Amino acid sequence: MAKDEPPGASLKPLVFRVDETTPEVVQSVLLERGWSKFDQHERNVEDWNLYWRTSSFRMAEHANVKPWQCLNHHPGTTRLTRKDLLAKHLQHMGRLYGTPLYAFLPATFVMPSDYSKFVAQYFKEKQALDAKLSYWICKPAELSRGRGIIIFSDIKNLIFADTCIIQKYICNPLLVGRYKCDLRVYVCVTGFKPLTIYIYQEGLVRFATEKFDLGDLGNSYAHLTNSSINRSGASYEKIKEVVGSGCKWTLSRFFSYLRSWDVDDLLLWQKINRVVILTVLAIAPSVPFAANCFELFGFDILIDDNLKPWLLEVNYSPGLSLDCSADVSVKRRLIHDTIELIHLHSLRNERKESCGAADGSPGVSLAGKDRGQGSNLPYESFSQLRSRRAFSKDETPVKKVVTTCPENRHTCQPREALSRQKEVHPSAREPPKAKPKARARHPALNTLIPCVSLIQPRGREKGLSLHIQPDSSWVPGPQAGNFVLIFPFNEATFGASRNGLNVRRIIQELQKLMHKQCSQVAEKKIKRK
Ligand code: ADP
Repeated sequence: MAKDEPPGASLKPLVFRVDETTPEVVQSVLLERGWSKFDQHERNVEDWNLYWRTSSFRMAEHANVKPWQCLNHHPGTTRLTRKDLLAKHLQHMGRLYGTPLYAFLPATFVMPSDYSKFVAQYFKEKQALDAKLSYWICKPAELSRGRGIIIFSDIKNLIFADTCIIQKYICNPLLVGRYKCDLRVYVCVTGFKPLTIYIYQEGLVRFATEKFDLGDLGNSYAHLTNSSINRSGASYEKIKEVVGSGCKWTLSRFFSYLRSWDVDDLLLWQKINRVVILTVLAIAPSVPFAANCFELFGFDILIDDNLKPWLLEVNYSPGLSLDCSADVSVKRRLIHDTIELIHLHSLRNERKESCGAADGSPGVSLAGKDRGQGSNLPYESFSQLRSRRAFSKDETPVKKVVTTCPENRHTCQPREALSRQKEVHPSAREPPKAKPKARARHPALNTLIPCVSLIQPRGREKGLSLHIQPDSSWVPGPQAGNFVLIFPFNEATFGASRNGLNVRRIIQELQKLMHKQCSQVAEKKIKRK
């Protein structure tokens, strides 16, 4: 028996707790990993390790969490996930650190307080555009799944009741075939103090099921990409140009499609990473501290035909229902990897301060268990992950996890990933409308998902092991399954996020990084000429 485990702990399975809102896939993945479901009649009330539910936890529940327990929500995160609060926080950051940095949020007005500002802007644009129309979207602040949304160009068509936001409608989306799409990017914040952000290197792309048409703003099937809407559309099952049937792709399939058009997918992914970091930074200083919890967010990102990513919203408890093959291949793995990630963090915390059930409590420490359970599990344990880093056999191209470090070229990753930062072909600036070429430019690289970690590959030779620094502070593991650490991304941001968050310093580092990435792109353009 391990010295730091309570008596009997090694015999106990890990226990998860659910309520009626817990997604089915979470329960089935945990059972598959050898966990047991909490039964209040059979167990002590505190005898569980992970409580996963859709709604938030009360502050009292956070305060009473035991060292061996973990909650799947962090307090204060609705500041990002309510559309009006998101806009307020990002606009505030824009005022503090420069509007261009936060220009990834379409111009947004919170109703009713910003009504006169909106009207002024509306008429200003109307005058500037002369006969051309300007387009707006009105979204209820607290609803989801496309409910209550209207798109309009004439203010006469604007109706709103409750709190909502009016946002500039991105009317030049990147189209696939002739269909609009947006990306669902999964992000796991394993802690706000210190701030630790992981991005998931696979995700979903959600399509509208009718062709994009600015002449028909009332057609939700052409303008909204929510699958809850498009699943019920007449064209859902039809084989649509390029998109095929249904309304979802995996992110890797989408990136592979972009590569076939010579789009610099790596650069696009770097931009998305920055959007995520800047967004989370907006609330990080103000969320209350809470131990033993994490938040899995769903970022909705729309790419326009200039390959600029726009943040549409951040979802709390992103949908985990398995409605199609893309869902199955992404979401099951996502949950497995989330469990791996929180396991990594509890290991880290347990080493940091000897916690767990050493007080003779009934709990089993999460850190000491779920090592893939050593059984016939289809997914790797942490220790297995150290040696194997390539996987996936879904309908998408096989992908390898690539960890590159734009800050530091002596990285651990396949070197070709850096050389893949190629110039955007002018034709890629147009939304691809016709059939893509049969093969990508760089067939050898087709299998690489364009994901880049911004982290220094410190101590990488130890794989996922945790690295102690000279100053004895722990550095989070750079990777867990398909999750890659994107914050902190270098020594300076690591320092600036410990003992309080120095947002200004972090923003300076991000700007340096953006500069570097821009000059790399410019250099490549020159070399090509
Ligand atoms: P919900 O929470 O109801 O899903 P979203 O903000 O995600 O609200 O919007 C729903 C859909 O509407 C998005 O998936 C996207 O297709 C479209 N949409 C939302 N905002 C914009 C925008 N500013 N420009 C273009 N399309 C948008």
